[in-house]
Amino acid sequence: MAGELAGKVAVVTGGASGIGRATADLFVAEGAKVVIADIADEAGEALAARLGASAVYQRTDVSDPAAVEAMIAAAVSRFGGIDVLFNNAGMSCGAFPSFLDDTLEDFDRVMRVNVLGPMLATRNAARIMARQGPDGRKAGGVILNNASIAGTLAGHAMMTYRASKAALIQFSKSSAIDLARHGIRVNCIVPGHVRTELSSFGEKGAETGLAARIEEGVNAVYLSNQLIKRRGEPEDVAQVALFLASERSRHMTGAVIPVEGGVTVGDPVNH
Ligand code: NAD
Repeated sequence: MAGELAGKVAVVTGGASGIGRATADLFVAEGAKVVIADIADEAGEALAARLGASAVYQRTDVSDPAAVEAMIAAAVSRFGGIDVLFNNAGMSCGAFPSFLDDTLEDFDRVMRVNVLGPMLATRNAARIMARQGPDGRKAGGVILNNASIAGTLAGHAMMTYRASKAALIQFSKSSAIDLARHGIRVNCIVPGHVRTELSSFGEKGAETGLAARIEEGVNAVYLSNQLIKRRGEPEDVAQVALFLASERSRHMTGAVIPVEGGVTVGDPVNH
């Protein structure tokens, strides 16, 4: 099949929903074979079934070293290698009103999923990317990390999430330096407010009214400091992931790329 990613094999973590699902859809449309890695089995299986022979679902908790190893092994055994890894899976922290209410359990889980997960997956994937073959596959590859403007902007809440995404940005830049010698490019996407399950805190968000409050706050932001006056959609981020996964971005590595409608560009006082 022709396309920007024809002949490529990609692993998308958190691929069953939101930004990951939109990316899996787009990558397959552009000719890639995709491993959808997630813990949401029903949604993951349904997406893989819809995408047919070009996709497979692999249950993977990215915070579990053995599961991450199996995820990368699945790309090799099912599709013959790995060219693109999108470290997209992530979770928000608990909806605590203040840092003083944060719990250690929440810190441990968020850091393991948002920071350790991408680190484990990068190491496993890069080991394969550095020595692809023997079926003629060239060494090298692309790794993408999905951070957040929460990792670049300070705020009065969600501190563990902010700290985890800041760590991911730093890991992304540092691994770009370390892996360049193997022909591996590493870039980091920094989305703003995107309409997904995560940004509405799922069922809990609906029950507690948090989703409605966030929706209200986010809408106010569009009308004030966001330069592009519309809500970001998963597809907006997927399009950037496609560019970064493809040869079009061959001269880019170590980049940190905002996809946020311009919300972090200016001083809000002067908008
Ligand atoms: P989403 O909830 O729609 O999708 C997240 C997916 O990750 C889900 O399918 C979930 O099951 C999966 N997941 C969660 N924990 C996992 C784990 N331990 N192992 C494997 N999979 C796991 O949310 P989304 O908004 O598409 O989130 C994708 C990424 O985008 C996250 O890293 C998030 O932090 C980031 N992000 C989102 C926004 C936003 O506004 N939605 C903004 C900035 C960054």
